[in-house]
Amino acid sequence: MERVINFNAGPAALPLAALERARDELLDFAGTGMSVMEHSHRGKDYERVHDEAIALLREIAGIGDDTEVLFVQGGATQQFAQIPLNFLPDGGSADYIVHGAWGEKALSEAQAATKWSGGKVRVAATTVHDKQYTRVPAEAEIARDPQAAYLHVTSNETIHGVQFHELPKADAVPLVCDMSSDFLWRKTDFSPFSFVYAGAQKNVGPSGIVIVLAKKDFIARGRKDLPKIFQYRTVAENNSLYNTPPTFAIYLIRNVLDWIKKGGGLARIEEQNRQKAALIYGAIDANASFYVSPVEKASRSTMNVVFRLPSEELEARFLAEAKKLKMVGLKGHRSVGGIRASLYNAVSLEWTKTLVDFMRDFAKKA
Ligand SMILES: *Cc1c(COP(=O)(O)O)cnc(C)c1O
Repeated sequence: MERVINFNAGPAALPLAALERARDELLDFAGTGMSVMEHSHRGKDYERVHDEAIALLREIAGIGDDTEVLFVQGGATQQFAQIPLNFLPDGGSADYIVHGAWGEKALSEAQAATKWSGGKVRVAATTVHDKQYTRVPAEAEIARDPQAAYLHVTSNETIHGVQFHELPKADAVPLVCDMSSDFLWRKTDFSPFSFVYAGAQKNVGPSGIVIVLAKKDFIARGRKDLPKIFQYRTVAENNSLYNTPPTFAIYLIRNVLDWIKKGGGLARIEEQNRQKAALIYGAIDANASFYVSPVEKASRSTMNVVFRLPSEELEARFLAEAKKLKMVGLKGHRSVGGIRASLYNAVSLEWTKTLVDFMRDFAKKA
């Protein structure tokens, strides 16, 4: 068996140790004679895994008692709709910052939700220019509504490779953040956020599950006239076991979090992630007549490095030759084209160096 070098944007590479542990435990989990998938979600064997995943998250990310750690389904995309349904009251208004495709989607779903909620949605800032996004807005560009029910922001725009290195300041308006593609990549102070959500399949696990960090008092503000299954309080009151959760996905998240902890926690992961991004951007800037990053330097993403070559033909050749060296997942999103290297936690420094060497050689040869 030979594993490839995986730069996929999501679902993405998982740490080998987390997969090997799953393999070793697949047929006989904890000496129970069955896989973890075959256990009841109400049984103590599964519950131990569930609670361990939550405890590891609290420990690694430094989550306090005022905050719930939840597992919810439907992907980050479902949260785009569910957040306004819960937290945008009749007659209220919510602010959105848009600096890429995911922020656009969050905004559009919130607009659709207003038909039900009776509230309205405002764009507090957008950096769209010729249908492209190449930067995050500056603090001064954010036209905040001090009465807003919340301010929604996407910390990292996965498709455009545009990331907030310093997130907008929290004030009296609750800060809601889609952290899907840069969750747990560095030490983060989660205390300013009222609600953070992240699809697991970028940095912390498989698809089909979203991790939510939500302040208890914020959850309590949510509407109570929604079907129970759509209220975050239902998830919180039932330790994310109101109905059957994707148990295997949560089990894998447990494995990944354990790997992060044993590898030295977020401080160590951050150091490595910064090194990886610096290497790739270094290769782009060192061959500036060949590789072009469309993203302004201050907004360059450490997780998704997007760049162009002089022609689409060269880009196709770049992808084909990279593949010969077992590097996959480098094709940019269909909406923007070009190349995208996603450097999530499970992507090693060694893999990154292989890509950098290839980029240097390819630019020289072409
Ligand atoms: C991937 C992604 C999503 C969508 O996640 P789904 O699980 O497909 O719903 C939303 N926001 C961001 C920032 C993403 O990277």
